[in-house]
Amino acid sequence: MPLEEARVPVMDRGFIFGDGIYEVIPAYSRKPFRLKEHLKRLQASLDSIRLKNPHSDSQWTELCAQLVAQNQGEDQYIYLHVTRGPAKREHAFPKQIHPTVFMMSTPLQTTPPELLKTGVAAITAQDNRWLRCDIKAISLLPNVLLRQMAVDCGTVETVLLRDGILTEGAASNIFVVKYGVVLAPPKNHLILPGITYDVVLELAAAHSIPHQVRAVSESEVRAAQELWMTSSAKEVLAITTLDNQPVGDGKPGKLFWRAGLWASSFHCLNTRAPSLSRSWAGTGRDLPRQ
Ligand code: PLP
Repeated sequence: MPLEEARVPVMDRGFIFGDGIYEVIPAYSRKPFRLKEHLKRLQASLDSIRLKNPHSDSQWTELCAQLVAQNQGEDQYIYLHVTRGPAKREHAFPKQIHPTVFMMSTPLQTTPPELLKTGVAAITAQDNRWLRCDIKAISLLPNVLLRQMAVDCGTVETVLLRDGILTEGAASNIFVVKYGVVLAPPKNHLILPGITYDVVLELAAAHSIPHQVRAVSESEVRAAQELWMTSSAKEVLAITTLDNQPVGDGKPGKLFWRAGLWASSFHCLNTRAPSLSRSWAGTGRDLPRQ
């Protein structure tokens, strides 16, 4: 149905309490990317909030296929959302649960080649979110406020630090390059286990880029040679200015080009994404051989 006609009861616990979880799945050439992994993370989020999955993986797969078929664009952005449904306002779970499932798909906006070439600016802030950032919860108010801080400063992302340690971005995972080694904060309750994060680490391993998954200190972030943000929406994007200071030489670094181009070609190989390859083609960069 058209988005404007979709309705949710005002007593839905998603609306009243933010009691629900969501997923964002890019579809390249109309094929959902890493659907199995997204559905696994969806299940983990549902388990964490003690909500029974309303659909089996094969039903979700079919729903995603129908949604993509009915919407515009070869490359799309599937958003799906499950809440604990409508009930009398009471914090504890209702006895009878009728989950609300909402799905929509919009054309995927890829990063313009100019931004890939220049990188983007970011700020840092204290990570003041709760301690279950591994759940892809719809209650995103802290992330909304933290991302808005970035926008208010004319930048693209807020890099979050908790007790002097890097966690992630307001809506992305963050990688640091130091002495030619890619550093990634470990997956734990302080970060969302990003699907793109996994792709980047797999590509680093496959192409013998030195990498380590370990706690990364604030001073390592500030002295980084390169900083990258990753997400399904932004893919891999270099952060070239942090708190008004250049990161490294202030340009996307050598490893960014390798990882970004490999990620792009990986998407193309796996899902034939014409618009994605166009974005990278616009940078004038060739795929490195090694
Ligand atoms: N961390 C946060 C807080 C996010 O909101 C997102 C994506 O929206 C990510 C990380 C990246 O996850 P993914 O690569 O699965 O999009």
